[in-house]
Amino acid sequence: MEQIRLGRTELRVNPIGLGANAVGGHNLYPNLNDEIGKDVLRTALKQGINFLDTAFVYGHGRSEELIGEVIREQGGRENVVIATKAFDNNPSLLKEAVENSLKRLQTDYIDLFYIHYPDVETPKDEAVGALKELKDEGKIRAIGVSNFSIEQLREANKDGYVDVVQDEYNLFKRDREKDILPYAKENGLSFVPYFPLASGLLGGKYTKETTFSDVRASLPMFQGETFITNLEKVERLREIADTKQVEVAHIVLAWYLTRDAIDAIIPGAKRPEQVENNLQTLFVRLSKEEIDRIDQIFQA
Ligand code: NAP
Repeated sequence: MEQIRLGRTELRVNPIGLGANAVGGHNLYPNLNDEIGKDVLRTALKQGINFLDTAFVYGHGRSEELIGEVIREQGGRENVVIATKAFDNNPSLLKEAVENSLKRLQTDYIDLFYIHYPDVETPKDEAVGALKELKDEGKIRAIGVSNFSIEQLREANKDGYVDVVQDEYNLFKRDREKDILPYAKENGLSFVPYFPLASGLLGGKYTKETTFSDVRASLPMFQGETFITNLEKVERLREIADTKQVEVAHIVLAWYLTRDAIDAIIPGAKRPEQVENNLQTLFVRLSKEEIDRIDQIFQA
């Protein structure tokens, strides 16, 4: 499977990664089963996915622990690119968070470490400076920030140390096209979109009868008329998917990979078959017309 370089880092990844917030993320999704989570990871690694995205907050360390267990069981740590995150910005707390992640992941280096959210107190370049020290010590290989405004990102990257930026971006939520994406392109940062499937809404499997009993029950895009309008847009995608004999999720994921600054994506999966299914994206080629049509459906 062809691997690409993540921005200007030395990390090489399959463009289809795995978002692991449903692996051990019991605080986000009720009724998760750790054994199924481990099977999701095993399937991903077996099928050539090598970019795993996790965070302390996914199950308060449980997601990281499960990733550590499965990589140890399967071997080949050097073939996996692990990205994780911590909420801390304060330099000493941030360093402590990295040490704790290393333990849970049973590894002596983390490939990509993100500051998960900015805080109000710490100057952003100081927070990133702490990660730069860890990078120089070989404890992390690349530096990321997540959920930063453009001003916070500029401050964080004052010394040019930020490698990757992760933010919410999908066909329904495109405000980052105005600021973060152009900044990433100009400065050689890789942009990793989260919620690429809009928490499943862009997967093409929901109908107006679908109900949700997890975090989605309170998200505006799943409510009332907005939900119906969103489903109608997804149906228009299905027309394009049908002509290509692929699924809606595949053309959605393929579309992101046509965007500047996006090298890889991290769709989430709750079951092993979703992991396998998302890999079909690698066989989708979108024409210029199809890219523009998809764009236009979601401009309205
Ligand atoms: P997502 O990727 O937008 O949606 C994933 C959901 O879509 C799955 O749980 C599944 O839900 C459905 N799905 C997956 N494959 C599918 C397919 N082939 N066809 C149809 N439906 C499919 O949402 P996410 O997992 O929340 O976000 C992705 C990753 O981004 C996370 O795992 C996490 O690593 C990261 N993230 C980061 C932040 C941050 O603050 N930096 C925030 C959120 C997420 P159902 O089975 O329920 O349909």
